[in-house]
Amino acid sequence: MTEILIQLAYLFAAFLFITALRALGRPDSARRGMQLATFGMAVAVIATLFQARIVSYEWIVVGAAVGAIAGYPLGMWVPMTAMPQRIALSHAFGALAATLVGIGEYTNGFSGGTLVRPTVMALGLEVLFGGVTVTGSLIAFGKLQGILPGRPLIFQGQNAINVLLLAAGCCCLIWLIAFPAQVLVFSAMVAIAILLGILFVLPIGGADMPVIVSLLNSYAGLAAVATGFAIDNNILIIVGALDGLSGFILALAMSKAMNRSFANVLFGAFGATGTDTAVATASGGEMSATTVEDAALRLAYAERVIMVPGYGLAVSQAQHQMRELGDLIENRGGDVRYAIHPVAGRMPGHMNVLLAEAGVPYDKLIDMDEINERFVEADVAVVVGANDVVNPAARINPASPIFGMPILKVDDAKSVLVLKRGKGRGFSGVENDLFVDPKTSMLFGDARQSLLDLGLQVKEA
Ligand code: NAP
Repeated sequence: MTEILIQLAYLFAAFLFITALRALGRPDSARRGMQLATFGMAVAVIATLFQARIVSYEWIVVGAAVGAIAGYPLGMWVPMTAMPQRIALSHAFGALAATLVGIGEYTNGFSGGTLVRPTVMALGLEVLFGGVTVTGSLIAFGKLQGILPGRPLIFQGQNAINVLLLAAGCCCLIWLIAFPAQVLVFSAMVAIAILLGILFVLPIGGADMPVIVSLLNSYAGLAAVATGFAIDNNILIIVGALDGLSGFILALAMSKAMNRSFANVLFGAFGATGTDTAVATASGGEMSATTVEDAALRLAYAERVIMVPGYGLAVSQAQHQMRELGDLIENRGGDVRYAIHPVAGRMPGHMNVLLAEAGVPYDKLIDMDEINERFVEADVAVVVGANDVVNPAARINPASPIFGMPILKVDDAKSVLVLKRGKGRGFSGVENDLFVDPKTSMLFGDARQSLLDLGLQVKEA
């Protein structure tokens, strides 16, 4: 009877997860999506605690306490701008759990003489995907957090070595399926997976890191699926499949938004070209700085304004000030829209989340394809902390490393006002000719302070 109730609870949890994923697809229902997913996870965990296979609860309590102590600060205190590395760390933890379960189950089966081929196959896949994800995610975390150099670390023959390691890992797996009780081969497979994770992520850098984090998310999901098969747990299979597929779809969507093929992201070593190439892509013109008073006057009398938020808006947490400025312009009769680039910021939907938090109505958040047609009619495009996503080189300079990435056509607007602190480059490290365009004025300073000052001046204009 208990087993039937557990399976029903798993079914209910799976329903909640799928409903949650659907809700996460829209900004106005995303918060509900997170609540549904959290509830689903609670149902799944509680149901699992009733499993007859559990022999004692002590270690479960210790594990839950350690998880809660690590998870609370990660959830509450890590800033939104550090989300990619936080997510990378979560994948490392999840994959570590799967890998340890795999090693534990194999060791138990080996000493009990109960290893059978289907289980060994699942355990093998579990430690292969899990091992790669643990070290790959830790390297990704180190790069994104600035502990390791963010640029691609390249060595000769790296792709060939990675392919050889992958082939060696697969050979170990096939060997184990044929002869399950081979501790040495199993250990070699774990070591290969751990090494492959490091070597796979080291040569990736720059704007490609979040794509890799998403791909590692998908590997962590696949490791969970394998764990589910190995320990005969249906909810792990379902959740792992959802996780694996959504991570893969997200990685594909991000590559598409940057106009990069998946193979190019994995093997292209983006950003390895270094500073010289980046500088050479710029025309070398002079930026024209403006004052708050002049910029505010232009905004106060503009009929159509398009706000273009980017990573700098998230850094300075200026979303409320952006909305307040937009409201002030609208109160004076202007029309204000907000342009959303799919990879502005550091995670998909980053700008939607920030602007929704500031209470910008959803119908004013306009996606790239639609807003690009409206820039020609805009009197002022206000670029706030965006750089790569408004870089015309992506459209017109075939020599640029970001050539082909779809961008917001800010340079079509009648005039452009750029709010940034200085001459810093974007995430890709490429110079931006928009800033030296004769119709662009630069308002230097922290985005939040500049938006506050502009608001005060627009009020008085
Ligand atoms: P960006 O290219 O990273 O540029 C951000 C700009 O903001 C910088 O040039 C910086 O210039 C400025 N800035 C930083 N702090 C600021 C502050 N406090 N106040 C004002 N300005 C500030 O940002 P983006 O245009 O949003 O482009 C996102 C990049 O991330 C793209 O290359 C994209 O491919 C990559 N990426 C994003 C995702 C995703 O899912 N969103 C995924 C993968 C890759 P100063 O230092 O001069 O101020």
